[in-house]
Amino acid sequence: MAKPKRVGIYVRISKDRRGQELGVQRQEKACRELCERMGWVVLKVYPENDVSASTTSKRGRPAYAEILRDARDGFIDGVVVHSVDRLTRRISELAGFLEEQREHGFAFATTEGEDTSTANGRMVLTIKGAVAQQESERMSERINISLLQRREQGKPHAGGKRQFGFKEGSCFQELDEAETELIREGHRMLLGRTPRTPGDVVRFWNSRGSSSPQGGAWTIQSVKRVYRSERTGGIVTYKGQGIGDSIYPAPLNREQWEAVQTLLDSRATPAPQGSGKRKHLYSGFLRCGNCGSALRVQWATIQGRTFRRTFCHSGQRGKDGRLGCGKVSRKYVWIEQRLNEMVAAALNARSPQQEETPAEDLTDGIGLVEARIRAFRGRWKDGRMADEDYFDSLSHLREELRTLRTRAATAVVRRSRTESDAVAVWEDDDTDSLERRRAIVATVIDHVDVFSVGRGRRKPPDITSIRVTPASR
Ligand SMILES: [Zn+2]
Repeated sequence: MAKPKRVGIYVRISKDRRGQELGVQRQEKACRELCERMGWVVLKVYPENDVSASTTSKRGRPAYAEILRDARDGFIDGVVVHSVDRLTRRISELAGFLEEQREHGFAFATTEGEDTSTANGRMVLTIKGAVAQQESERMSERINISLLQRREQGKPHAGGKRQFGFKEGSCFQELDEAETELIREGHRMLLGRTPRTPGDVVRFWNSRGSSSPQGGAWTIQSVKRVYRSERTGGIVTYKGQGIGDSIYPAPLNREQWEAVQTLLDSRATPAPQGSGKRKHLYSGFLRCGNCGSALRVQWATIQGRTFRRTFCHSGQRGKDGRLGCGKVSRKYVWIEQRLNEMVAAALNARSPQQEETPAEDLTDGIGLVEARIRAFRGRWKDGRMADEDYFDSLSHLREELRTLRTRAATAVVRRSRTESDAVAVWEDDDTDSLERRRAIVATVIDHVDVFSVGRGRRKPPDITSIRVTPASR
């Protein structure tokens, strides 16, 4: 940083911690000496006539407001004070001041020697500010409020690990173009007209030579983490809750992010018990027509021919704890073909009129709540509303907003999942899409009773040898 040529000195008289008065002249003298030592040029002194320390607002301190405005406008390019507690005793205000300082790039020094160009210096300052404030009550609460205040202004927490999509070292304020493009493309894959799986996104990102922030190849877990992160959607969080939109750019907007959350939630079906993944589309839907037990599906080789068989198991208890009767054993593929035809017909028959929720209603509702939050925020910032009232109202409105947004996102996903898209998923019989196809089956079929057709029949079974109970819609 170049040497400041237009320094403003801020002096304030008030009783200090030990009840002593620190005269403005003494403060000014020390500040001027510092500037001289540093080779800085003093332009103006901003004296504050006594105002009591900790509870005073910015509005009650005209000189403080003035020096801040001048620094912001570039009229001065440096601020010097005797010590941090001359500047402010409120940590929230100090945090705000340091924020302005970094944003507008003016120099700041105290005669006690904090150097704010280093993270350590800023930390020392913050701690000093906190200590100065300790005598005023509820310090931790105020730190929280200052954090919340930052978040309320759309400034996300700047700490933490590097995150995919953001330029390293930019405190999540700048996007990495190439990574952002991958995130957006992956989003289009997941929610496109022919939806792909997170596994597809993993393969796509890896094929582009991208690697995870931890350095290795992408995995389903690490890809999901990217889409699960609120930051990816430009959402500012406070204590784990989304409270507003970031003022900085993000790879996805809120609507896109919410839609992908709903999608990931809907995919998070618990893995079936036993041997891991299901391999057969209708296993779990088939019941023994004789005893009602769940039928198994298995590969079998009989007389040199390998085929799938579904059967009632009499030697092992099923998930329902019952032993099967063992009287039903059928070729699976015939059943599968019949049920496939039935599901495809049901999907094609679904008329668009069955769609619900006109999205406009929700949009209006969301807009209304957002407007109320903005109005409250404005009143609070202008000091026309007490902190407690504000945060109280805010948490109610946030809750309302969250509910509305979740409903809106669900509607979007639901719409993208109906009609032609469901048919497209249905027709994609990649093993990756099995669980989604099963989800579609579940919208059509509740369960299927399978009856015995006897052994060794040459003729194809009769359609009445299965009985389908449709899913209630
Ligand atoms: Zn049975």
